[in-house]
Amino acid sequence: MSNTHFSDDFDFENRIMDTHEIPEDSAEGENPLRPKNLDEYIGQEKAKENLRVYIEAAKIRNETLDHVLLYGPPGLGKTTLAGIIANELGVNIRITSGPAIEKPGDLAALLTNLNEGDVLFIDEIHRMSRAVEEVLYPSMEDFAIDIITGKGQMAASYHLPLPRFTLVGATTRAGQLTAPLRDRFGVLLRLELYTPEELADIIIRSAGILGIKIEYDGAIEIASRSRGTPRIANRMLKRVRDFAQVMSDGVITLETARTALDRLEIDELGLDQNDRRMLEAIIRFYNGGPVGLETLAAAIGEEAITIEDVYEPYLMQIGFLSRTPRGRCITAEACRHLGYDFPKGTVQGAVTQPTLFGENN
Ligand code: ADP
Repeated sequence: MSNTHFSDDFDFENRIMDTHEIPEDSAEGENPLRPKNLDEYIGQEKAKENLRVYIEAAKIRNETLDHVLLYGPPGLGKTTLAGIIANELGVNIRITSGPAIEKPGDLAALLTNLNEGDVLFIDEIHRMSRAVEEVLYPSMEDFAIDIITGKGQMAASYHLPLPRFTLVGATTRAGQLTAPLRDRFGVLLRLELYTPEELADIIIRSAGILGIKIEYDGAIEIASRSRGTPRIANRMLKRVRDFAQVMSDGVITLETARTALDRLEIDELGLDQNDRRMLEAIIRFYNGGPVGLETLAAAIGEEAITIEDVYEPYLMQIGFLSRTPRGRCITAEACRHLGYDFPKGTVQGAVTQPTLFGENN
């Protein structure tokens, strides 16, 4: 195999497997596919059942729902679920994101414009600034904010009551939230990667909405290559439809799904060029690992955060990658899948065993 440069010849922005939202997904693209209530929301049974109880209880008591933190990799349905919570409660939702709230004043403006019982959804809540967080705490706890005007001797503080609201925060990394913020959420729900069967149900539902004909085998084939993520499944469905139109009278069969996904270079486990390049980099440049996250990121020309949020959850779930205190390691399964020998000296499993000193060998 040739010595590839990892940074210059692939369109990371538009990769079909990217779990981040792209314009095609939003507005007219993704919105019609978003389930509107809990019954339409497929999978995530544990989170769904808990939510159902909390929502019912809040409605019976005529109270606002406790603040909810949703966490898990991108594209799993956190925004969708926030919309469903508002819908089930029969209230309005205001949508913003951590980086969009630049100053405490921005947050104050958002909060004072809410109506009683509304849901405020803050996506990427871990990216909120400290100064903004300081305003958020009291508003979550006491439904009031203190506004300070003027400076020095002219400074004055006003205590401003707010309507009672439900904050729904979403994050890909619960570990990065400060403890005081995390502690103020009454409900913590972790979203898991979906099974191929659940994804097939999502694909069939989306196909129905988009007027695409699909056979179950075709749906399962797309599902099993969608790395557990509904956003990817829906995106692939649209790409495969193009192939089906040309190949099989518009019907997505097992055959068309296979051909289309092979052409898109998404293998039978859902790995694309970028996954393969990253895994190959660990094998070829770092002898199977361990390699530090930042080093690996530099080697493949990718952001460390993208590796952590987008590539790793699925690669770890299928047992291709292990994360150790000393860095990332390849597994024997991954080598077999990519057609490499398992590098000598990498003892499978040993790297993940902590020693008495808390360090790995
Ligand atoms: P996140 O906010 O976690 O990045 P989104 O809520 O934007 O993810 O979900 C991405 C897309 O996947 C949604 O538009 C929706 O069409 C689909 N989706 C997500 N979860 C489900 C689900 N449980 N059932 C059906 N479709 C889903």
